[in-house]
Amino acid sequence: MGTIKVLESAIQNKISAGEVVERPSSVVKELLENSIDANATEIEVFIEESGMKKIRIVDDGDGIHHTDGPLLFQRHATSKISSDYDLFQIRSLGFRGEALASIGAVAKVSVETKHHSGDPVFIRFEGGELMRQSPGKERQGTDITITDLFFNTPARLKYIRSLKTESGKIIDVVQKMAMAHPKVSFRLVLDDQQRLMTKGNGNLKETMSDIYGLNVARNAVEIQAQDADFRIHGFVVRPEINRSNRNYMNISVNQRHIKNFALSQSIVKGFHTLLPKDKYPIAVIDIEMDPKLVDVNVHPAKIEVKFSKERELNHLLENAVLESMRKEVLIPDVAKKI
Ligand code: ADP
Ligand code: MG
Repeated sequence: MGTIKVLESAIQNKISAGEVVERPSSVVKELLENSIDANATEIEVFIEESGMKKIRIVDDGDGIHHTDGPLLFQRHATSKISSDYDLFQIRSLGFRGEALASIGAVAKVSVETKHHSGDPVFIRFEGGELMRQSPGKERQGTDITITDLFFNTPARLKYIRSLKTESGKIIDVVQKMAMAHPKVSFRLVLDDQQRLMTKGNGNLKETMSDIYGLNVARNAVEIQAQDADFRIHGFVVRPEINRSNRNYMNISVNQRHIKNFALSQSIVKGFHTLLPKDKYPIAVIDIEMDPKLVDVNVHPAKIEVKFSKERELNHLLENAVLESMRKEVLIPDVAKKI
């Protein structure tokens, strides 16, 4: 008799949880993405003990229809794509239908939600099992609480508990999401202390001010560039105000924050010789493109992406930064021709 068997779904989800929800900040990221995909305009994040005790996210988005309750924690169950064709032109932040299944496999989750055409519903899910579904409170949007993260994965629990950096990572995730979505208001409260608040009025410079402070925003220079495939818009901060690492170069593609070394290097290059040695700029840049030109399905956390016209894009970005520095008369015209 053969020895291969298909694992039961609770184990499947625990395995994929290892990739999707690596740590508390990745849970926060996934939940924020869901709120944004649900067209939320106001999102509040409450964190206790770096997310190990509690992560709660309250949004005013579309909510979840009560009849979708049983599918919410099922892997590859999503409302965002329905065909192979959709996979190659993704506009939403989520599409894999994996986050809630993964989180539900390694934590205890309560969801209180209401869709405009459905009934308010309360759902409780623990360690891969639906514990309860009952009528909920009458309130448009979704209120989701995660407790006891990694309670049933002892090695991960021990590893994360020993980290001192987790709150910093959560702040970073919320900041980056807020800068990629200036039309959404974000509030972050860590152990009863408000750590971040953006107005969500659509003004990117004001969002930068809310996050990095007034002085950074005052020294921000607008950049804009466009070709047949890409439209770049955002701000770079004058080189006198700089940082010692690359983390302040915020790049989003169709409002998805991404990590891309080549693109951040293009920003640095655009500053020509203006930055001191080993210093990096502050920048907040969104690149709009046809979703067909970017593959976001190369990494479970969807933070690394692949571009089909990478060289052209890098060139456009470098030039856009350079041009903005020229306008500020920081770089004379003859300095560099690229
Ligand atoms: P994905 O985002 O890839 O679709 P998730 O596991 O993150 O997968 O979420 C599963 C589904 O649950 C989503 O497709 C969406 O329909 C619904 N959902 C999750 N969170 C929210 C929310 N905050 N508001 C509305 N719907 C939500
Ligand atoms: Mg999602």
